[in-house]
Amino acid sequence: MISENLHSVRARIVAACALAGRNPDEVRLLAVAKSFGPEAVRAAHAAGQTDFGENYLQEAVDKQARLAQLPLVWHCIGPIQANKTRLVAEHFDWAQTVDRLKIAQRLSDQRPDHLAPLQVCLQVNIDGGPTKSGVSPEEALPLALEVARLPRLVLRGLMTIPEPAPDYATSLAVHRQARELFEDLRSAGMPLDTLSMGMTADLEAAIHAGSTMVRIGTAIFGGRTQAA
Ligand SMILES: *Cc1c(COP(=O)(O)O)cnc(C)c1O
Repeated sequence: MISENLHSVRARIVAACALAGRNPDEVRLLAVAKSFGPEAVRAAHAAGQTDFGENYLQEAVDKQARLAQLPLVWHCIGPIQANKTRLVAEHFDWAQTVDRLKIAQRLSDQRPDHLAPLQVCLQVNIDGGPTKSGVSPEEALPLALEVARLPRLVLRGLMTIPEPAPDYATSLAVHRQARELFEDLRSAGMPLDTLSMGMTADLEAAIHAGSTMVRIGTAIFGGRTQAA
């Protein structure tokens, strides 16, 4: 079932790219395996999937330990508390939810020498939800300039989790704001290549607006028992 679901998601990406006049190779698929066990990840890998996103650090580390022999790329897409940065620095390839300099500094300091630099996206609170994590759009460039200087991190781009939108046009408009911010940072000289946005419900709008990485859970692994 996971294999068929992956095929359908890839077909959605191809169709969305065709509508947007984009090359599907520009869009990386991240399989979000939170709340699913190592066997689900193994099945997705057998169907050709290499990038996996995890929200809960301890759950992720336990899963990784059971899958250590597979050549997987792990992305942290959950909140990173200051006292959890070491887990992220030691166990992930990417951290997509960096929204404060302090967290970035700790990740850089704690990244083990034998690992490649940690690939980082800044999480941006693009629609201004007051309780949401993410740097404000206005603070994104100053933070990006600081993070880009840290020796053991590579700043790759921006990540965003917009509120569910009532319709396609609203969703597209919000994703376009993220795209504009991404282009502003690039115009300011930052060599960014990753705009991480789009989930099961808004994949098409995100790709239409220029997403280069979609993070898909439900459409691949099925519904989660708890809202997560
Ligand atoms: C859970 C989650 C996803 C995947 O969401 P689905 O709607 O299940 O596709 C993507 N990004 C983040 C940050 C998530 O927490």
